[in-house]
Amino acid sequence: MPVGGTGKSYKPIVHTIGWNHCHTAVIDAPGLAKAISDGLFEYFKRNDLPAKLKIAIACCLNMCGAVHCSDIAIVGMHRKPPVVDDEIVAKFCEIPTTVASCPTLAIKPKVLPDGKRSVEINPERCMYCGNCYTVCPGLNIINPKYDCLSLWVGGKVPNARSPPMYSRLVIPYLPNNPPRWPETVEAIKKIVKAWIENAREDERIGEWIERIGWEKFFKITGIPFTDKHIDDFIFSIRDFRTTTQFKF
Ligand code: SF4
Ligand code: SF4
Repeated sequence: MPVGGTGKSYKPIVHTIGWNHCHTAVIDAPGLAKAISDGLFEYFKRNDLPAKLKIAIACCLNMCGAVHCSDIAIVGMHRKPPVVDDEIVAKFCEIPTTVASCPTLAIKPKVLPDGKRSVEINPERCMYCGNCYTVCPGLNIINPKYDCLSLWVGGKVPNARSPPMYSRLVIPYLPNNPPRWPETVEAIKKIVKAWIENAREDERIGEWIERIGWEKFFKITGIPFTDKHIDDFIFSIRDFRTTTQFKF
């Protein structure tokens, strides 16, 4: 058993369970966790990083892992709405439950020419969460051609001295490339190396970026800044106002 993961080192990765349990997984999170941990193994044994390094993986954007509050996070992303299989929906799905499963009200019932019942999806309203697929096997959201990974940095939980910080998107698209995900592992290693070389003592990744500025972070790491990094909050405002969880 290797000894490490304490103090100022790379901590054991926090990850979700992927296809072992869930319908909506984009990635094999345990496999990706192993590939990343192999790539960062030297930092597990060392105790001389600027601060602790926490990495998390969520295999879909329901984000069961601690991705919003980890130094580096990977989120699996579907990028196309579910494909409706009318026959399976008619045979196996309860229509009201399926309609109610959608947080953005993208699903509505429809009657087929033979009188059977199914649903249709408004692609403009779909945010590719896969909740409907969890309750109805006729709404398959798995799409190997378009599913991908995204990389986020800068999160951490609060402590006695500093408030919480939330992860921000830095790479919107990385290919889902098992069994070793070389592009993702390389991107993470590049960010960790830049942090180690430039951060002050006790600076977590998010604190380091806050000090130097995001512009400089993109410059140092060589990660391209694109329009995908700009959040205009169009979708979140609609979601906050139409779910029972958030009201302004
Ligand atoms: S992140 Fe998504 S796929 Fe992974 S365990 Fe959670 S809900 Fe399931
Ligand atoms: S994937 Fe999510 S947003 Fe899209 S239709 Fe299904 S439940 Fe609604």
